[in-house]
Amino acid sequence: MTEAVTAPAVPTPTVSPARADELERNLTAVRARVAAACRAVRRDPSDVTLVVVTKTWPAEDVRTLAALGVTDTGENQDQQAAAKAAATADLPLRWHFIGQLQRNKAASVARYADLVHSVDRLSLVDALVRGAERAERRLRCLAQVSLDSDTGRGGVVPSELERLADAIASHDHLELAGVMMVAPLHLEPATAFECLSVLHERLRDTHPGAVIRSAGMSGDLEAAIATGATHVRVGSAILGTRAPRVPTA
Ligand SMILES: *Cc1c(COP(=O)(O)O)cnc(C)c1O
Repeated sequence: MTEAVTAPAVPTPTVSPARADELERNLTAVRARVAAACRAVRRDPSDVTLVVVTKTWPAEDVRTLAALGVTDTGENQDQQAAAKAAATADLPLRWHFIGQLQRNKAASVARYADLVHSVDRLSLVDALVRGAERAERRLRCLAQVSLDSDTGRGGVVPSELERLADAIASHDHLELAGVMMVAPLHLEPATAFECLSVLHERLRDTHPGAVIRSAGMSGDLEAAIATGATHVRVGSAILGTRAPRVPTA
């Protein structure tokens, strides 16, 4: 007599055993870094969300990471993000959009993103409002601030942060959830994140619900956690550094 075999709800990951091992090892190491950084400043590790940045890596890696307990994944390019979100739609993942966003991609991002970290100009706010309206949802957004005079990596200068945040918060279809920063190359990350901390606390006087602070990547997550980051965005320390570069459209 044969027993009926029920198909698993989640398809088996298709990465090689070696890749699965590598992802598990790296993820374990990064989780330990997050935990140690929290311990060092007496923060509860559950207050820090690890966003695993899967840009340039395939959906199979995303699936493997989800099986290892990853709940939050980040992408910086709409085309890749939309494809991976669709390919893993059966998984309970929250997608974070973290890259510079063109206005004509805002409607697409508004469909799958749980949180847009990189709202960095007023003209993008209007495009996101239209996208969120069309998707019939409320889209959570972070105002990205930059300490770089060259804002090539996105972000408003600190003096413009309040105006950008007010613009996001003024629309029913958007929710101002907090702030985001990429530490500039010319500053110690700890110094940059201290500045972000001051800017964020000041913003919370007028926007108390904007509690998220997205800061810290593979190289500087400890400094970010020490200064109060609630979300760290970690790519290469988990996925590796040898993904083929996909040109940004
Ligand atoms: C790629 C990227 C990250 C992750 O960087 P790693 O150094 O690979 O951890 C974080 N934030 C943004 C905005 C990124 O584009």
